[in-house]
Amino acid sequence: MRVLALLMLVLSGGALAAGPRWQPATVDLPVRQVGPHSYYVEGVLADSSAKNQGFMSNAGFVVTTDGVVVFDALGSPALARRLLAIIARYTDQPVRRVIISHYHADHFYGIPALREAGAEIWAHDAARLYLHSEAATRRLAERQQSLGPWLGAGFVLPTPDRWLTADESFTLGELTFRLVHIGPGHAPEDLAMLVEPDGVLYAGDVVYAGRVPFVGEADTGLWLNGLEHLKQIPARVLVPGHGPASQRPAADLALTTRYLRYLRETMAQAVADFVPFDEAYANTDWTAFASLPTFAVANRANAYNVYLQMEQSALKP
Ligand SMILES: [Zn+2]
Repeated sequence: MRVLALLMLVLSGGALAAGPRWQPATVDLPVRQVGPHSYYVEGVLADSSAKNQGFMSNAGFVVTTDGVVVFDALGSPALARRLLAIIARYTDQPVRRVIISHYHADHFYGIPALREAGAEIWAHDAARLYLHSEAATRRLAERQQSLGPWLGAGFVLPTPDRWLTADESFTLGELTFRLVHIGPGHAPEDLAMLVEPDGVLYAGDVVYAGRVPFVGEADTGLWLNGLEHLKQIPARVLVPGHGPASQRPAADLALTTRYLRYLRETMAQAVADFVPFDEAYANTDWTAFASLPTFAVANRANAYNVYLQMEQSALKP
């Protein structure tokens, strides 16, 4: 007993000594309601920067009569604390649970603030791979540079309280939450959450509504897998990890699928014909996607990334 008391003292003393660990975020977090109980804050469509304080991803929250469920933790503890203040405007209920869509910096760095508020954090087990990767270390160093004040001194990559290894459903208050592992897609651990009966699907970064996605280093073959998984989940509204919600989930899932397939087909053909990238890009007919909002900023880099992927897989025996 005395050992436990001493341990508690040491732990709480440590926390107190740390003081305010991060600078409060001051950016506006616009709230959108997408169902009777379902909301999300919509990040700006830009890269993470000091100017937007890293607020470039979405986070959902669902208010029940027995607590709140949050989907994704945003890009810093400071942003997550701001999210908590916003939720408090809608309900007196505490945040009980946080579901992390995937372990990319803009979706899980806010965990410490949510945990401090008493929430239990769940993420899919496949994220363990990332936590111990060199990419995670590199990304952390970059974010400490660009978002240091909002991460706070001594920030370490936060782990969840519970690793999920299979799909599961739970009820809270009057609502049922269905968690579906749709990865490997955009990331190995991609998780989606369907809120019943709102019919709202929080889908993470696997789908983008009415625009061209940013492919980055994602494996587009696996990504198409994730999209096929998402198509099986009946939803009225889909909230992606970035940008506005989709009121036409089936059409938007089909659009992202068509786009990724087209990139893969055209770039694979170019690689097979030994056509250099610049020439292949110039000769590809992009008219089906050219009018989409993010086409101008994303398409060339996407095509290039997929070209490199296709080159690599052509080299494999
Ligand atoms: Zn993201």
